[in-house]
Amino acid sequence: MGFSTDAIHAGQEPDPVTGAVSVPIYQTSTYQIPALGVYKGFDYARTVNPTRTALETCLARLEGGKRGLAFASGMAAINAVFSMLKAGDHIILSRNVYGGTFRLLKGVLNSFSIETSFVDTTDLANVKASFTPATRMAFIETPTNPILTLTDIRGCADLCHERKALLVVDNTFMSPYWQRPLALGADMVVHSTTKFINGHSDSVGGAVITATEEAGERLYFIQKSAGAILAPFDCWLVMRGLKTLAVRMERHEENTRKVAEHLEKHPAVRKVHYPGLASHPQHELARSQAGGFGGMVAFDLGSYAAAKALLDSLKLCLLAESLGGVETLISHPASMTHASVPPEERKRIGISDGLVRISVGIEDAEDLIADLDGGLAAAEKAGASTSTEAAPSRSL
Ligand SMILES: *Cc1c(COP(=O)(O)O)cnc(C)c1O
Repeated sequence: MGFSTDAIHAGQEPDPVTGAVSVPIYQTSTYQIPALGVYKGFDYARTVNPTRTALETCLARLEGGKRGLAFASGMAAINAVFSMLKAGDHIILSRNVYGGTFRLLKGVLNSFSIETSFVDTTDLANVKASFTPATRMAFIETPTNPILTLTDIRGCADLCHERKALLVVDNTFMSPYWQRPLALGADMVVHSTTKFINGHSDSVGGAVITATEEAGERLYFIQKSAGAILAPFDCWLVMRGLKTLAVRMERHEENTRKVAEHLEKHPAVRKVHYPGLASHPQHELARSQAGGFGGMVAFDLGSYAAAKALLDSLKLCLLAESLGGVETLISHPASMTHASVPPEERKRIGISDGLVRISVGIEDAEDLIADLDGGLAAAEKAGASTSTEAAPSRSL
């Protein structure tokens, strides 16, 4: 079946009792067992819940994996993946991996002697040079947040497999509609379903999809043991979101292309980062490993004052963290999502004080562009001033 058909039907057969076409929300913590020692496959809802199973089956199908597991958040999903490791194991990660992943490793899992190397994975030579005898896993994000640099998934998978390490790809920014890392050799995919997969900014959740049954079994054991499961109502919401994933992603991308092309022509904008633009240094890699370019764009206005002027004057684009919703969300990485990254490190990874990130929604593109034009006019005025104010920081 095609992607859209699977998104609507996989794991979601009509209810055998009533024929309900929407999978019921099994809001129960336990199940009556028919007789002592006789089970229908349902004992306790942390272990198994039919609403969750429906979502997990659908996600596995969409990513082309063997097993899907749904978690209480993207971070819970990522923590479950890292729980497959043991003390002394080493992980190679993309240098500008999601901030929460960085915090989990540096502030929590460091106490369990999980060793890390954060490297620029855009160049496979860096990945290759980072393996140690203890490396068990590489964890990449492509494209990265917020400046959308890419990592060659197949190249990374080959390097990992030569050394018996697992490749995990955080596919949150692309969703399985545009990018399916398992088909390129990755062993596991993780998602924050909070973002494009649910798509309506009304649920926090996460998922892992595995290429093999063995990895799926191990993660299922971790899921039921650690217990960070996604609640039935959220499973239902995410399934509802999935049904329109294909049409949403098409529209997100169409709008993002229009916005990116408009920004690229605007005199107030120094640089636009979007893999769909021919000017993106990895445009060809983007074309070769994904079906589309996604709904995220970042651009540099040259100074904190200019970025602040733009953000303060927008009316339609909402100033907020998060991404992937139907509504356009705009953010200032240096003072919001990346505020805990030290300023020198921010500079090194390309997050300047003038950088603005947009998660382009599915509104009418003309309305978004009109709103941004108002902000860009304000930015131009502020940029001409001599303010050298820097973005505020905060701690990990
Ligand atoms: C949001 C996000 C996460 C974390 O997911 P939560 O649902 O917020 O826990 C992980 N990776 C990426 C790329 C994200 O954008």
